[in-house]
Amino acid sequence: MEDCLFCKILSGKVSTKKIYEDDKVLAFGDINPQAPVHILVIPKKHIVNLNDVGEDDIVLLGHIQVVISKLARNNKLFDGYRVVNNCGVDGGQTVQHLHYHLLGGRVFGWPPG
Ligand code: 5GP
Ligand code: ZN
Repeated sequence: MEDCLFCKILSGKVSTKKIYEDDKVLAFGDINPQAPVHILVIPKKHIVNLNDVGEDDIVLLGHIQVVISKLARNNKLFDGYRVVNNCGVDGGQTVQHLHYHLLGGRVFGWPPG
């Protein structure tokens, strides 16, 4: 996807601080961190958001959650953390490539803004 920022990060056209990578996903630091730990986890497959996932993506989506769990442990977020997926306009999604925010290192409020 030529115009997709996260596809450009995946192809190396846009540089970023890679934190974890395997054949299915990439994790990197958010450019505008909202917490001491703010990692974005994205599938290598271009999927716009959760409206575009199907049965074929079940293994990928499960894998992402396991990666997030490992990243939380690696970052010593033993007291907890927040995982966020912003979907669509109302969800506040600004980059149109499925991504999960792993936020930690501070206490979060509820409800979110
Ligand atoms: P969204 O608002 O779509 O849920 O999240 C998009 C996230 O991507 C935002 O937290 C934003 O700070 C981050 N972001 C936007 N552009 C870049 C970039 O060029 N590099 C990195 N590492 N993060 C970015
Ligand atoms: Zn993309």
